[in-house]
Amino acid sequence: MATVLVVEDDDKIGRTLETALTSNGHQAAWHRTGGNALQAAEHSEFDLVLLDLGLPDIDGIDVCRGLKQRQPRTVVVILTARDEEMDVIVGLESGADDYLVKPFRMTELLARVRAHLRRAEPPGTDTAPATYTSGDLVVDCQRRRAAVRDRELNLRPKEFDLLARLLADAGTALSRTQLMADVWDENWHGPTKTLDVHISAVRQRLSDSANETEPRGQVPVITTLRGHGYRLDPPGPC
Ligand code: CA
Repeated sequence: MATVLVVEDDDKIGRTLETALTSNGHQAAWHRTGGNALQAAEHSEFDLVLLDLGLPDIDGIDVCRGLKQRQPRTVVVILTARDEEMDVIVGLESGADDYLVKPFRMTELLARVRAHLRRAEPPGTDTAPATYTSGDLVVDCQRRRAAVRDRELNLRPKEFDLLARLLADAGTALSRTQLMADVWDENWHGPTKTLDVHISAVRQRLSDSANETEPRGQVPVITTLRGHGYRLDPPGPC
């Protein structure tokens, strides 16, 4: 069972989401305004948030930032009627982990929720190895901690999963389709812009952490393979 925060001002959608989540065994808290949602996040921990972008009081993007500040480990899924690539990109850059464009099928939403919650669980001992190392970068999957010489990268959940996935097959070309399927959802059919946004965030965090250490930390490089995907290469010799 997971605790899910629903932020949606549309009565019909809000009620449908609340009912669907509850009947799937989750605990749902529904708020109609961004203000109330942020207040709720002060008092209760949520595993996942379904966040409408068009809210009556605060812009959904700002609500997303506020939620992530309060609860960095919460998975935020944006629900948007604005099928605008820009909104989605801004949403993902403001910390959201995923998005769905309205109208969506409830079965799709529930599948997405399930996939996120499964990945948010600490990995079992029979899944990923506990730790990956590349140069000065250490990624501890058990503790979900990524650091360059003890300087934490502060990755968002999907960024962490993506880095761990790349490290698991370091030096190997991974296709976009494979990465999307492994890190997001096996049924992912949406735009794959999400992947590029997350890759660029991971690159940024790697280089920021490397720059903060003295001497500069040695970190792996994520190479773009045009028309195919990405490959993580270990840091080269100085
Ligand atoms: Ca709305």
